[in-house]
This record gives sequence, C-alpha cells and structure tokens, in this order.
Amino acid sequence: MNPALDCRQQMQTALLGRPAACAALSDPLRPLLASLLTGRSLKQGVLTATLGLPPDTFEALWQHYFPGDPLQLQHGPGEDMVELDDLLQLLLEYRAGVYASEAWLAHIVAHSYCGRNHLWQDLGLANRGELSLLMNTAFPALAALNVGDMKWKKFIYRHYCAREGIYVCPAPSCGECSDYSKCFAKEE
Ligand code: SF4
Repeated sequence: MNPALDCRQQMQTALLGRPAACAALSDPLRPLLASLLTGRSLKQGVLTATLGLPPDTFEALWQHYFPGDPLQLQHGPGEDMVELDDLLQLLLEYRAGVYASEAWLAHIVAHSYCGRNHLWQDLGLANRGELSLLMNTAFPALAALNVGDMKWKKFIYRHYCAREGIYVCPAPSCGECSDYSKCFAKEE
C-alpha cells in the first residue's frame, strides 16, 4: 500500500464523513471538493489557501459542505495571471447550472492555470480521472467538446484562444502537428 495515497484517502474520507446539509450531500462535486481541500492540505498543486476563492465564498464552502473546524491550509506557489478573468468567464458560461459548487469550481480551475504541470496536478487532485469527472459534471457541454481526450489544460486554453480568434497551433490540424504529443500524451 502507498502510505501517501493512504493518508490522502483517510483525509478525504474524514471530510466526506462530516454532517453536511442534504443539498451538499447530494452534490456529486462534493467528493471532488474534498479532494481539492485534501490536496491543498498536503501542499499539492499551486492553489491559494482558499483554493482561489474569495474568503467569504470559501467560508460558505466549509459551512455548507464540510461543517466543523476548517483544515489549516497554506498558500501554494501560484501567481496571478493575465488570462484569469477570461478563463473564469469561459468556465462560468459552461457551468451545468445545477449546483452552486460549479461556480466555485470555475474559480478554482481558472486559478490553477498559473501552474506548470498537468491541470489535475496544479489543482492538487489525486489523479486525472478526478479532473475528468469534475469537467464532465460541472462543465458538461465544454467537456463534451474534448472529443479527442486532449490534455485538459491544453483543451480549455485552446478553446479560449479559438473563441478570442487567437491561433496558437503550429499546424492546421492535430493529425499533422509536430506538437501532437504535447496536447494528447498521457497526463500521468
Ligand atoms: S496537436 Fe497541434 S494542432 Fe492540435 S491542438 Fe495541439 S498544437 Fe494545436
């Protein structure tokens, strides 16, 4: 057994065992929020101590989803970035519109873009599968556009650039592109 994974799993399970309100308990994104909090607690990823959320929103997250003493979190190494607001607006446009937590996750994902690793790593999630679940649940229409299973960071950014009329690709199609592996290789 991997001790680091075991520790992570225990922390996440403890958070999910807290007596949240029914609306929070039925939110399929709650386990992912627990994973994000666990990752920050373990100093994984680049997010701030509030996961990139405004302090009052972060407080609401604790109160409604994981009532009890908040974990003592520290800032990750992330920095402000120029495209933050644009990425946030893009994600908000594509939110499923079912749970308020989708808007929180739009902030969280946009803030993680300042990192230099895979998006799931910069978020502090446990693996890429969690990120795929997050995208498919919180932003399903956007996730559905990733038909080739492109790396999530590349996909969201490329979608943003295409909307803005910014062409960042060195080739007209992925099949003939020298950067293919940068966009589609495994994110492990
Ligand atoms: S593989 Fe090349 S063409 Fe396709 S998205 Fe990546 S950079 Fe653009």
